[in-house]
Amino acid sequence: MPHTPHPRPAARRIRGALLRTALALVLLLAAAACGKEGSPPVKGPEPGKLPQYAVNTGFELNDSPTWRKARKRGHFNVGVKEDQPYLGEKDPATGLYSGFDIEIARMVSASLGLDPARIDFRTIASANRETALQNGQIDYYVGTYTINDNRKKLVGFAGPYYLAGQSLLVRADEDDIKGPRDLDGKRVCSATGSTPYQRIQQDYPKAELVAYDTYSICVDNLLTYQVDAVTTDDAILIGYAAKAPDELKVVGKPFSEEPYGIGVPRDDNALRFAIDDALEANEKNGNWKKAYDATLGLSGVPAPEPPPIDRYPAS
Ligand code: GLU
Repeated sequence: MPHTPHPRPAARRIRGALLRTALALVLLLAAAACGKEGSPPVKGPEPGKLPQYAVNTGFELNDSPTWRKARKRGHFNVGVKEDQPYLGEKDPATGLYSGFDIEIARMVSASLGLDPARIDFRTIASANRETALQNGQIDYYVGTYTINDNRKKLVGFAGPYYLAGQSLLVRADEDDIKGPRDLDGKRVCSATGSTPYQRIQQDYPKAELVAYDTYSICVDNLLTYQVDAVTTDDAILIGYAAKAPDELKVVGKPFSEEPYGIGVPRDDNALRFAIDDALEANEKNGNWKKAYDATLGLSGVPAPEPPPIDRYPAS
């Protein structure tokens, strides 16, 4: 069972509040200093530089109940993350989503004949993905979603379209934690219902696990000294570190394989295979690489080769 922390005693709460204020001040001063020296702000995806995906008009997928409903509605409802820099991030001012996962969602929509500009993006946390697909709240899900056999009992997976690996994020001045073996007795934060949470629980039981709905809450807790490390996929952690390079760093080597898939309703094999085809086509025609370079590539990691699609048989 995921364990959520107990309410904090007043003294700790006050200390937390003070630290938050101090941190806010440091960030403000740092921002002011940057401005003075004229250094550019941290680069995020620029809407003008994102690829355009041609809508595959005339495409039909009548074997897929999910596609038929979406077509009638005129757009897909897609589940994503909103707090993962370079992957799936929502601009609080405009409400617009950006990132590599968002681009993957868009190219798939276009290949399946529905205008990507009309996608209704819905933020769904890691623990709620399977339910959202099962109850029809979303048509497909693109949000750092690891393909594995347990989840395949509940949902279907197209892809993979990217290969990540579990890693660790710590404060920049942390010297003791270099890998998962150093986590004994340390407070480690991850998201409820995620594979990184489960791996720490099973393989590193001496770590003191703390769970929240999202990794951004974990990162807040790391910055305010409530936890000692945040663990999830390297692709996610690199984004947080890039946004606060003076405060945070990713340490050690990835210690798992996290192949990212597109979640679909379990029985809609027609949709799953059509998304496999769409991914393959977009990898071949250069859209995948363009999308990567305009989003995740901004974190400084050059585009890898996409992993081979695993078109597993319907069961
Ligand atoms: N890829 C891992 C998972 O699917 C961690 C990232 C996430 O929670 O989305 O559980």
